[in-house]
Amino acid sequence: MISQYTTKVKKSFKYLSLLNHPSNKGFCPICNQKTLFVEYGSWLRDQYKCIKCNSIPRHRALINSIKLFVPNYKQTLIHESSPGSRSSDYLKNECQGYSCSQYFPDVTPGQVHQGFRCESLENLTFPDASFDLFITQDVFEHVLHPDQAFGEIARVLKPGGMHIFTMPWYPELKHSRQRAAIEDSEIKYLEEAIYHGNPISNQGSLVTYDWGSDFVDYVYKHSGMSTTIHLHVDRSLGLDAKYLEVFISQKSYE
Ligand SMILES: [Zn+2]
Repeated sequence: MISQYTTKVKKSFKYLSLLNHPSNKGFCPICNQKTLFVEYGSWLRDQYKCIKCNSIPRHRALINSIKLFVPNYKQTLIHESSPGSRSSDYLKNECQGYSCSQYFPDVTPGQVHQGFRCESLENLTFPDASFDLFITQDVFEHVLHPDQAFGEIARVLKPGGMHIFTMPWYPELKHSRQRAAIEDSEIKYLEEAIYHGNPISNQGSLVTYDWGSDFVDYVYKHSGMSTTIHLHVDRSLGLDAKYLEVFISQKSYE
């Protein structure tokens, strides 16, 4: 009885504290139920959360786009590079054909380390045409050789397969801006160093590119894949934030 009462009081406090924050009712594409989306701060990209699963807008945008563009996604072979979000958990739980990998600099690609297969996006060890879908979430602003990475993803996708991904995109930039490069195994900074949070490294991840309006051409040049940019803003699905675009690059069927 006492513990039930304590749980109830705690829940009441949780809901009372929400009164301080703007919120709206809606349906969450990730926990698949009616929910409340709460703005815990003004930076919606990280602070506009589903009260039930704690997902943020880009997680919901990715899953919403997958449902829209690949209705049979639960029956596909999916690989995700660098998982670690509510959307990764969703795909893992819902899709039998889901697998994932992380990159560890000191581990041979293809080997398992800390429960993850080690893979470098720039040199994947998978055979050609292995997957229907390849997923990356906020990864491509951190890759040192994105030309090779897009080429590799296209190689491991089946004909008609799709790379579905999120990343910050700056269409106001006419030309994408490289922020860092690697020369003789040393990082060379071309712009001020910026780091983003990384679930498997305390150092964070160095931002290597600010992708601009030429991004779609860049992907085509290095992979032959055509890219659709899908932006869906809809508060009833908890979709509202900066950099909410979902990119869908498709390998041709030929
Ligand atoms: Zn949710």
